[in-house]
Amino acid sequence: MMQRFSCPFCGPRDETEFFYGGEAGNERPEPAEETTAKQWARYLHMENNVKGPAREIWVHLTCGEFFVMERDTVTHEVHASEAFRGDRT
Ligand SMILES: [Zn+2]
Repeated sequence: MMQRFSCPFCGPRDETEFFYGGEAGNERPEPAEETTAKQWARYLHMENNVKGPAREIWVHLTCGEFFVMERDTVTHEVHASEAFRGDRT
């Protein structure tokens, strides 16, 4: 089933124009020199696999902009799309 996602810059487009960039808020462990191998592996390979509302980073390939999409991973209902500013909220 084709979904329509909303780019904060371009508006609603077909899902084929978008690329999934990962979960928002998966931060690099700091400081790196005090981070255990286990923490690094977790950072590099694990995702939380949220069930329900999740914040995800997406790229709209047509305009090349990153944005955060709030989406329910169970129902695939999109709640919000906002420009990605690289902040840590
Ligand atoms: Zn766009």
